[in-house]
Amino acid sequence: MPGYIANYGYTNGSGDYYIVVDTDKCDGCGECVEACPQGVLEVITDDYDDLVAAVREEHHRNLKYVCAPCKPVSGPRDIKCQLACPSGAVSHSW
Ligand code: SF4
Ligand code: SF4
Repeated sequence: MPGYIANYGYTNGSGDYYIVVDTDKCDGCGECVEACPQGVLEVITDDYDDLVAAVREEHHRNLKYVCAPCKPVSGPRDIKCQLACPSGAVSHSW
């Protein structure tokens, strides 16, 4: 099945806020969904009938805010979705 890069997020005056899922690497295991304290992520069946991680629709335009507990403006980051993913499929643009 073809792999693709799924981008979820937005750009505004303060920056680019995207969560990126590499669907070649993602097998839909759901570890990132379990790890996320904010309920940002879900596992969906994509157009190729594969299970893949995705950002819930209601969070497509508020990632800067909803992810702030993991990614504070200053201080150490604790990006739980990335840390939980066994295959390195999740990345963030900010
Ligand atoms: S950065 Fe944190 S809040 Fe945002 S999707 Fe990942 S685990 Fe969830
Ligand atoms: S933890 Fe990684 S491989 Fe598992 S569903 Fe999330 S992004 Fe995909």
